[in-house]
Amino acid sequence: MGDRTMMPDWPQYDDDEAKALLEVLHSGHWGSTSGDVVATFEREFASYQQAAYGICLSNGTLAIAAALRAAGVGIGDEVIVPPYTFIATASAALFVGAVPVFADVDPDTHLLDPVATEAAITERTKAVIVVHLAGRPADLDAFTALGTRHGLTIVEDAAQAHGAAYKGRPVGAIGDLGTFSFQSSKNITAGEGGAVLTDNEQLAGALYSLVNVGRVPGGGWYQHEAVGYNLRLTEFQAAILRVQLRRHPAVQEIRERNAGLLTDLLRDVDGIRLAPEDRAITAHGRHLFMLRFPGRRDAVLQALAATGLTRASSGYVPLHRNTAVLRESKSIADRLSQPYPTADCPNADTVSADTIWLPQTYLLGTESQTRSIAATITKALQ
Ligand SMILES: *Cc1c(COP(=O)(O)O)cnc(C)c1O
Repeated sequence: MGDRTMMPDWPQYDDDEAKALLEVLHSGHWGSTSGDVVATFEREFASYQQAAYGICLSNGTLAIAAALRAAGVGIGDEVIVPPYTFIATASAALFVGAVPVFADVDPDTHLLDPVATEAAITERTKAVIVVHLAGRPADLDAFTALGTRHGLTIVEDAAQAHGAAYKGRPVGAIGDLGTFSFQSSKNITAGEGGAVLTDNEQLAGALYSLVNVGRVPGGGWYQHEAVGYNLRLTEFQAAILRVQLRRHPAVQEIRERNAGLLTDLLRDVDGIRLAPEDRAITAHGRHLFMLRFPGRRDAVLQALAATGLTRASSGYVPLHRNTAVLRESKSIADRLSQPYPTADCPNADTVSADTIWLPQTYLLGTESQTRSIAATITKALQ
């Protein structure tokens, strides 16, 4: 739904999506067990992110759980996650019987801090989930080195980072596994959907099996060689995703241009903290535009809402304060007589108190709409 600022709606589509949907409809192959649209999109998306293998599944939440399970993460294992992220990053660990352990974020970037991560490692740690929050790639050099040093699986939660790249390489298969979401708000969407990417053939096989009730590629219908879920995407979703993927570079160019303009206009305004430039980030996914306003956040948010920019958001409540996640984590740890340390994440507390996000649709406006967003923010701070 549009608002009175006339910012663009999301999702965007045209006759190409309609045609692709009707093709699947009339083909009679609505499921991926008989059609080939999901398999085609898997190849195209993996290639877009420069990964050897792509496996689609029902959403980005279960993508993380499946990635962990494929990597052998299970009951009582610890998975280090940032507290400043969507709840799925932590709940996915709980779904496989593992315990999410929070390490603090860097307050300048809002991203998981490799030093805090290393300090949170115990003999039970099996994996780290780094989140490319807002579309900004995490410090993958540091995390892949840490993974090698400690024998940990590195999962990239790239739900917000389609098209993002680190040192020239698209994210997703730089760590051991990378997970994506195609939920309604995301920069490539079919309403719902997800994918896991990897360069590791064995992990790809395990994922295929988890998505397809334990079947093996080319195997029989009742040949279940593992215990798997049914997480399959429909051919309709893949048909839309193929078109959305083709559309992505052009739409991304608009977001990139407007994000650059916002950055130029707001960089030197007193009272705003923008994430620093980082030459390792060769493409930003531009899912959110995040700004910090120490002590002034609510005033700026009100000013934005007053001009009709009601989709600007105060963002996450940090997960190390979420009682459901803590209760479930403690319950698993207690049953196994394992300690569950209370997380101390002061940076996550700070950024959750002073951050505003602009959604990606606010990066899709005209130059004058973008200038007026910057003007509203600047005026609110005067
Ligand atoms: C959206 C999102 C997810 C979950 O994806 P769904 O498809 O909604 O299940 C996971 N992690 C992050 C960081 C997200 O933004």
